[in-house]
Amino acid sequence: MADKPLVIMPEDIQRLMGKDAQRNNILAAKTVAEIVKTTLGPKGMDKMLVSPTNDIIVTNDGVTILEEMQIEHPAAKMMVEIAKTQETEVGDGTTTAVMLAGKLLENAEKLLDSKIHPTVISKGYRIAAEKAQAILREIALKITPEDDELLKQIAMTAMTGKGAESSKEKFAEIIVKAIRQINDHGKIDLNNLKIEKSKGDGIGDTEIISGIVFDKEKISHDMPSIVRNARIALLDFPVELRNPEIDTKISISSPEQLRSFLEQEEMETRRMIEKIKSSGANVVFCQKGVDDFSQYLLSKSGIYTCRRVSRSDMEKISKATGGKIVSNLNELTLNELGNAEMVEEIKHGDDVLTYVNGCKNPKAMTILIHGGTSHVMDEIERAIRDGLGDVSCSLKDGLIVPGGGAVEIELARRLREFSQGLFGREQLAVEEFASALEFIPITLAENAGLDPIDVLTELKSRHDSGEKNAGLNLFKNKIENVLESRIVEPMRIKSQAINSATDVAVMILRIDDVIASSGNSSKGGKISGGGMPYSDDY
Ligand code: ADP
Ligand code: MG
Repeated sequence: MADKPLVIMPEDIQRLMGKDAQRNNILAAKTVAEIVKTTLGPKGMDKMLVSPTNDIIVTNDGVTILEEMQIEHPAAKMMVEIAKTQETEVGDGTTTAVMLAGKLLENAEKLLDSKIHPTVISKGYRIAAEKAQAILREIALKITPEDDELLKQIAMTAMTGKGAESSKEKFAEIIVKAIRQINDHGKIDLNNLKIEKSKGDGIGDTEIISGIVFDKEKISHDMPSIVRNARIALLDFPVELRNPEIDTKISISSPEQLRSFLEQEEMETRRMIEKIKSSGANVVFCQKGVDDFSQYLLSKSGIYTCRRVSRSDMEKISKATGGKIVSNLNELTLNELGNAEMVEEIKHGDDVLTYVNGCKNPKAMTILIHGGTSHVMDEIERAIRDGLGDVSCSLKDGLIVPGGGAVEIELARRLREFSQGLFGREQLAVEEFASALEFIPITLAENAGLDPIDVLTELKSRHDSGEKNAGLNLFKNKIENVLESRIVEPMRIKSQAINSATDVAVMILRIDDVIASSGNSSKGGKISGGGMPYSDDY
């Protein structure tokens, strides 16, 4: 017994301990920040992502880039999570959040080098983050739903530097109108809003439609193209007699038997369509398939039918028209049907869309994006979603802050002031936190080809002399009162970014041991550099 080696973990386990673990994680986090850094701000560049199946995405959006990159390193994955949280909580500011976390860790490394313990750094960062939230609330300005112009400016700031730039005034108008429509006494549910894309025309033709538009056509030419006073049945089962997914065998020994079998089938189908008709429906949206004979009977009854409608569209139509999604034909009655003034098929170039207009619930809206190629439209959609997210969270909190780095510089200045009153090494951590915030205006300047040191020096001196809204206006490449030039953002972008960046930085700092089991594949167990590029100038 005594000379047997003690085995507590399998041999193929990868393990990094102490400083190695810390440095490795910090390097991975910094690398992720480095990747998205060049996309920040109105003068940021785009990235082209090519999937294994050669699908192409061209984007400026932090979360999209990170999601598509198939990152494997565990600490790097935590950085991606920050971007995802930012996207779901705010809808914008993903690059900012990731960069902040990266810089917090990079600065922590400096403190680690001067032998400051990670728990002290973590504590200092926590103190700084809390203070930063308090300062943010002090410097934020109020906004009300009536401030139309300001809301448009928020949407425009969100879209600057994206593919939407050229028509951003029009998009801003659409965004504010859409949010106004779906605003239900301060409650804004972006799920009420559908974004649909149609190839053809230019992006300037993008429109807002009250009602739901989705990319399905009627399944037969003989069906009417317009149905007024639509009574809509929403079915989530196939309108087919035989389930194509199940293989059935029947043995027939005579022609009579075959005939009677076919007649039987026909009768069944007729009964099914009769049931739909007798419910009073003149429109059917089916989530599954509709077979040829049913299709024929439906069109003979003049019922407008679409098949394979996506679940999310079915739910939106249900909400908009007051109809219930039915899973059993026997449950279908007049009560379950949705109502709309008109259901119509409209062609745009190559695309055929179905419009559901004049819905019972006037809050149902669709933004229909037009554009030459799907890549362009996808990037416009991301920009519009950023705008929607920013306008809606400005209204939810009623608070906004100046952009162009103004708020970051003011936060950094006041955090440094605050750190003077602290004792011990936590003071150093608060100072590093402040300088991490300054990384945002530095990068905005760098990406625009300006000298970052000059910009930072001027910004700092103007804030020191009391100009708390001095920021970098990249339309003019000038430092000025950005509140007056209407470069404004919701406060929540910054507060959420600071929160999640601090959380992740602290979490990564506290790790001193990485134990990765390799399992069957190397996925998830990679704790090496991950093959990602890393340059020293970051
Ligand atoms: P994120 O993914 O973090 O939202 P963006 O690429 O959208 O990244 O850039 C946002 C940053 O750009 C914010 O700090 C914002 O203040 C800044 N910004 C937006 N418009 C301007 C402008 N006209 N001049 C200077 N900075 C701007
Ligand atoms: Mg943005």
